[in-house]
Amino acid sequence: MKKQPPFKKVLVANRGEIALRIIRACREMGVQTVAIYSTADRESLHVRMADEAVCVGPPETNLSYRNIPNIISAAEITQSEAIHPGYGFLSENAHFAEICQSAGVVFIGPSPESISLMGDKARAKSLMRETRVPVVPGSQGAISSEEEAITLSREIGYPLIIKASAGGGGRGMRIVHQEGDFDNALHAAQTEAFQAFGSKEVYIEKYFQNPRHVEIQILADTEGNVYALGERDCSIQRRHQKLVEESPSPVLSPKLRQEMSEAAVRAARAANYVNAGTVEFLVDDRRNFFFIEMNTRIQVEHPVTETLFQYDLVKAQIRIAAGLPVEPPGKSAGHAIECRINAEDPWTFAPSPGHLERFLLPGGPGVRVDTAFFEGATIPPQYDSLIAKLIVNGRTREEALDRMARALAEFEIKGIRTTIPFHIALMQDEAFRKGTYSTGFVEHFLARRP
Ligand code: ADP
Repeated sequence: MKKQPPFKKVLVANRGEIALRIIRACREMGVQTVAIYSTADRESLHVRMADEAVCVGPPETNLSYRNIPNIISAAEITQSEAIHPGYGFLSENAHFAEICQSAGVVFIGPSPESISLMGDKARAKSLMRETRVPVVPGSQGAISSEEEAITLSREIGYPLIIKASAGGGGRGMRIVHQEGDFDNALHAAQTEAFQAFGSKEVYIEKYFQNPRHVEIQILADTEGNVYALGERDCSIQRRHQKLVEESPSPVLSPKLRQEMSEAAVRAARAANYVNAGTVEFLVDDRRNFFFIEMNTRIQVEHPVTETLFQYDLVKAQIRIAAGLPVEPPGKSAGHAIECRINAEDPWTFAPSPGHLERFLLPGGPGVRVDTAFFEGATIPPQYDSLIAKLIVNGRTREEALDRMARALAEFEIKGIRTTIPFHIALMQDEAFRKGTYSTGFVEHFLARRP
């Protein structure tokens, strides 16, 4: 007998590789799909692969992929039962999740309350403190006055970092190295926060010089099960933006992994969290870990965990949203790495959109490529520069690194510049291969280049 699909029809409120990823999960589950698209994406693969497609506006994202009225109308017209927001765009917009609810459409993600709690990073940190999850030392909640900020900055010591409470995507952060710069930095951060996020609320915390970024994948269903699916080490970053992710982290002992997983589960329970989420930590050189934030959506780097656990996180998200239980994850095996291939210059990271004259992808054992592009397609300049994710796995870290280098070299892309040469150089780098890197690694790596 054929299994009953969790929903009849799901609208995918996103574009690019993540839209395809969701459409694929739906298709395997017998769920029909509706794509939305802007006029810049008429020829896109997500439009072709979905069962139906609705144009929701012009290229500008506020008028299309973030256009709540048009997206809700598209769901109503197509009689979609649920909306998957993917990552970016409306995925962490509590207001959107609420509107879905009132329109009678299931939002595939956590509750509006959990989203807004975790979206306010200062509030999230306060809750974590109460939950005995270690947090980065800093202000208790948002800064209320300049005097308070100055007193606090002396307690924390320099360097410190000023962050927007509503910040995200590596934006709204300012590092301050000495007290003389604090005043100016605070005002600039508040102005910037207001311009970028509509709220001038900021908080301060100790700035770690060379931490590792290690995050725990969480899956929570409506029956009260909260599972941790290991970690992802995302310390290979440029300007606070992730470039490479791997699991297991080269620096985590089984004991530390256990402790961080338990802390992440406590964090999720404290926020009444349901669905997939990620609890992000910084790990210092003495192997202490500190909560920085929780992301209330599927992440770009989720395939690393999927590969390691042979567990489909997107299907799990859909089942959870339908009120169905999910299977506990089994044991993970081997090593997985992801490289983000961006349409950017490999050394300056300047955007390089354009026409793909040639687009040949790697394959073979242990290789997964998530992309929505194809030969002859054009990468529009309006959106994210991520054009493909290359995920490989191996029995050991060494095998995974060798496989990654091999697969990267198989790409044949013409017409645009990509970050592939950067990744190839990284896979050959001795320090990277040793696994002893921190979030400051890429800056030094680039400076070391002849
Ligand atoms: P966003 O949501 O904008 O991505 P995060 O809080 O996740 O912001 O931080 C992004 C990155 O910024 C981290 O991975 C880390 O490299 C760096 N970072 C954030 N907070 C600190 C800190 N207190 N000390 C050192 N680095 C930090």
